[in-house]
Amino acid sequence: MAKPQLGNEEKDAVCKVIDSGMIANGAVVAEFEKRFAAYVGAKHGIATTSGTTALEVALRAFGIGPGDKVLTTPFSFIATANSIVYTGATPVFADIDPATYNMDPEKAEQVLQSTPGIRAILVVHLFGRSCEMDAFVALAKKYGVLLVEDCAQCHGATWRGQKTGSFGDAACFSFYPTKNMATGEGGMVLTDSDETEKACRMLINHGMETRYYHDIVGYNYRMTNIAAAIGLCQLDKLPRMNERRRVAAGYYDAHIRNDLVVTPQPDAGHVYHQYTMRVIGGRRDVFIEYLTAKQIGHGVFYPLTIPEQKCYAAFNFQTAYPAADLLKTQVVSLPVHPGLTDAEIREVAETVNTFSGA
Ligand SMILES: *Cc1c(COP(=O)(O)O)cnc(C)c1O
Repeated sequence: MAKPQLGNEEKDAVCKVIDSGMIANGAVVAEFEKRFAAYVGAKHGIATTSGTTALEVALRAFGIGPGDKVLTTPFSFIATANSIVYTGATPVFADIDPATYNMDPEKAEQVLQSTPGIRAILVVHLFGRSCEMDAFVALAKKYGVLLVEDCAQCHGATWRGQKTGSFGDAACFSFYPTKNMATGEGGMVLTDSDETEKACRMLINHGMETRYYHDIVGYNYRMTNIAAAIGLCQLDKLPRMNERRRVAAGYYDAHIRNDLVVTPQPDAGHVYHQYTMRVIGGRRDVFIEYLTAKQIGHGVFYPLTIPEQKCYAAFNFQTAYPAADLLKTQVVSLPVHPGLTDAEIREVAETVNTFSGA
């Protein structure tokens, strides 16, 4: 399902860092922050240890904490909601649009109207497809709340030609090896605000601006030069890697023909972190057994909604989200990573097409 594209470029870059003796946080991280922020179209980048810590730091930088609520999607990786919980704030959820798998702006507005105390909207561009950002930018403005983008799955994706990660007050990326680009573990916060950048840097560096003068209780969430060296190489490759994902997805769109399968709605700015289809007629689990037998890689993202996860039992969240509840029983993701050969892509599509439902 994933195969990070690591080669001699990354090896050479890592060796150079090792030879320099400066293996922890330093000039290579600064270069990666600068280049990645420029690529997305943001003023500042603050590299972190993971996408999860990037999200936590961004929310904390805005002072979000106990008593606050953050509106997000029930259909994402758990880290999205965990980052809210870490700050002491409470997640509230708005159901998704089943056509896009992303938070539905109309449902988001209903929740904004009916729920006092929401300080921020945390949108997730799930599977590499942008949320409807004109709607979310307008909602944030109308209700006077912050807009933060979880970009862990959408490096290089666009909404109406503008890159995801450049719409919100902050955007948070992950560079985990399954994502569209990798540094091992790693993440980054992007922001245009000088003040937010400063707050993020304090938080990731034990709350200090001047060495050993700690103004707040911070963390060690700093990225290493080793990780950043890999990230710089991966950033160079990102457009090609995303193009290869689009080729595979385009092939699936054009060739998958099965009455039990609904392929994802195409979108011009999609970068296909996952190619996630729906298997209807209650046949999803049979389809998974079939793919397993045929030795075709696959994944279910995600089998449970976030509010119904056991780890949140004590929150007593509302757990009925009809669209997310349906999707969790229908979704299957096919291999779409840039390491696939043309023959493998064909084989995946043919295998889907010969599924009879039995
Ligand atoms: C991967 C992911 C994260 C967390 O990133 P890590 O680098 O694994 O901590 C957050 N949100 C979403 C949507 C993700 O897919």
